[in-house]
Amino acid sequence: MNPFSEIDTVKLCGYNGKTYATDDRSKKDLKLNCQNKTSVRENILDLFKPFPIDLIKIYPKSFSSDKGLTYGLIRTSQGKKLAVLGEASLVLKDPFRGECYRNPSALKVCDLTAENTQCLMELFPYTRPCSLRSHPITIGTGDRLGLATPGHIRAIRKFDVRPVLAQQSTRENRQTGRTFEEVVRDAAWAVFQEDYRDGYGADGDHLKSLEEVKDSLNSGVSMVTLDLSEKLISEAFGLPKETIDRRFEREIDVGDREVFSHMFLGKEFSFQTLRGGFSIRFDEETLKRNVLLFHKALDFTEEVYESIRFRSGGAHIDFEISIDETPFPTSPENHLFLIIELNHRGIRIDSLAPRFVGDFQKGVDYRGDLSEFRQQLRKHVRIAEEYGHYKISVHSGSDKFSIFPDLGELARKALHLKTAGTSWLEAMRLIALVNPLLYREMHRFAFSAFKEASKLYHVTTELDQIPDLESLQDEELPALLDQDDSRQLLHITYGYLLNARNETGRNFFRERLFQTLARYEEDYWSLLETHIEKHLTSIGLKKIN
Ligand SMILES: [Zn+2]
Repeated sequence: MNPFSEIDTVKLCGYNGKTYATDDRSKKDLKLNCQNKTSVRENILDLFKPFPIDLIKIYPKSFSSDKGLTYGLIRTSQGKKLAVLGEASLVLKDPFRGECYRNPSALKVCDLTAENTQCLMELFPYTRPCSLRSHPITIGTGDRLGLATPGHIRAIRKFDVRPVLAQQSTRENRQTGRTFEEVVRDAAWAVFQEDYRDGYGADGDHLKSLEEVKDSLNSGVSMVTLDLSEKLISEAFGLPKETIDRRFEREIDVGDREVFSHMFLGKEFSFQTLRGGFSIRFDEETLKRNVLLFHKALDFTEEVYESIRFRSGGAHIDFEISIDETPFPTSPENHLFLIIELNHRGIRIDSLAPRFVGDFQKGVDYRGDLSEFRQQLRKHVRIAEEYGHYKISVHSGSDKFSIFPDLGELARKALHLKTAGTSWLEAMRLIALVNPLLYREMHRFAFSAFKEASKLYHVTTELDQIPDLESLQDEELPALLDQDDSRQLLHITYGYLLNARNETGRNFFRERLFQTLARYEEDYWSLLETHIEKHLTSIGLKKIN
């Protein structure tokens, strides 16, 4: 019997036998008549029986048929692969590159390479990152290891929110040894695996130079977060008045000085709120300080903005400005000055990340005065509403549960929340649960790397508050991921843990970590689903359906 006579009769479907909304090419030939999850899985497995491959696992949601071919993700002992099944002539003509088996129909097993990712994005356009500017609430999940995204998607698809699934900074990529291109690629395959068709973003995060921006755009990002911290003259708000006067005369040319005076002096910028509103005035000194603080950063932003427009080929790239890594909180005056100047130069932003009052330390809740935070957030939101309807972007946003209700209430019309490292911590939780030996080794190593790592982050970790590892039973280890100090210890040392090597150059942990996460991937995704869902619920988002 021709084993592939079955292919034409087996009708694949999603778990619930639901009808998919399809785009032009993908999945339009799909006939849905499966009754349940098990029969779907079995039907798919049957397709592979004639072929001599060491199939470990299939990802049922990814399977679909298009123009006589069936596509889906599988796992073999060589890792995750794309399978293309169908009549031999069709499989041969199909653009994906891979190893072919014939019996007499064909199976092609393809690596998830850059080239095949391009094919995937052509064939299934929803796997390509897109602008999310029209969605009022977006969440940046990021995926440091390239393994977490399915868990993120499983949480996010329950809510009316859109995800930025790929979100890495150059610094993070350096620590994890990945490139923007790989980050986008991993997100695209995860989107395919989960059959997530609502659109997702890819963010070149905290980019600090034109080179970094170009690199991320070439890799297909749909969002650029331009970090102005190195271009800001932060001392402008610390120097004495006389020095400011002198520098203003020296650094700002006469014509510009007049324009600034005309735009800002003697004016009252008023904002109505439910609580009566507020207004902002610039006196000469505040104006000069703001000009000095931002003028180089504004020139730089203009240059980058033009470059993005030139390189994006007509596609809208979501543009975020981040000033969250500055030595002082962004005052409403700073924000207003910056946005008026950006608008004046014709630069349209989609989000702005101010530095808020209080402490946004990695991996732990907000530390600071909640009512002051709320007051400041309200002002930032109002300014953003008046000057371009862009989103307020909250960085280091994971685990900030005490401010989430305020974000949901005050910024629900335009909010972007960035989380990232928290998914790494859930990976460590999984390791503590299923591979205590590895966890113990990593935990001990993190201690030795902490001093060095803490130079890169602002944290107030008290190492002596962390329970002694030797006194803990294996089953007590996961609770270390609920303790602030050990969370921060593991959070900021991730790069050291991933890159730790012995004298022969062999990684201490990397392979074992990835193997464990791959083996228990469904458990990892469940942990992430619960964790991200908790974030979204705390913001006040309601589940859809
Ligand atoms: Zn940031």
